[in-house]
Amino acid sequence: MNCNIIKDLLPSYIDGICSEDTAKIVEDHLEHCEECKTCVNSMQRQTAYVQQNPKEVEKAIAPFKKINKKRRIQVITAIVMTFLMTFFITTVGYLVYQDVGVVHDFFSPKVTAIVDVEDDSEEWQSLNFNDKNYLIYDRVFWKKSIVNAGSDSESGNQSDRDILLRVKDVNGKVIVDEIQVKSGKSVKLDGLKKNEKYFFEIKAPQGRYFINAI
Ligand SMILES: [Zn+2]
Repeated sequence: MNCNIIKDLLPSYIDGICSEDTAKIVEDHLEHCEECKTCVNSMQRQTAYVQQNPKEVEKAIAPFKKINKKRRIQVITAIVMTFLMTFFITTVGYLVYQDVGVVHDFFSPKVTAIVDVEDDSEEWQSLNFNDKNYLIYDRVFWKKSIVNAGSDSESGNQSDRDILLRVKDVNGKVIVDEIQVKSGKSVKLDGLKKNEKYFFEIKAPQGRYFINAI
């Protein structure tokens, strides 16, 4: 009989819970195997010691119980922390999302000018963005584009709704000269600098126009 199989059987043999047949096999093996005999002696001594000195044994394993308790607290703490972090991130994310206007406004700035062109005169009419007659590209996220977002008027066809746009700097110098922005379309204004005031003007047929700076 293989020693490993015997060693597997030894605990139940020592506890006296194995069948008579098993006990016979173990005993036969022990008769001629020194290694397993040593093993069984050692196990029997341990068992006897535990039975005779329960308090000592209790004392000896107490530190391990403490370690287990400590470990358990660590695991619980980790779980609670993970939960709290997830909760925190989700909540903050949700609040940011709820207030998405602010975030959106930061990353995708957009201001709208509503301008009424009273008649079809060939006058340039200045655009007011947020009650200011100028616009400053104060963030890197500005696309520096102008969108002809739409118009209200009794007259006509789409091509009437196209506008002409020009942009001046603080010195009145024309930076972008007379470019056409078709209805519903946008143009990108290259050459405009960050953090400088620009004045926007349009020329268009009579009507109300919605011009977005993005
Ligand atoms: Zn053996």
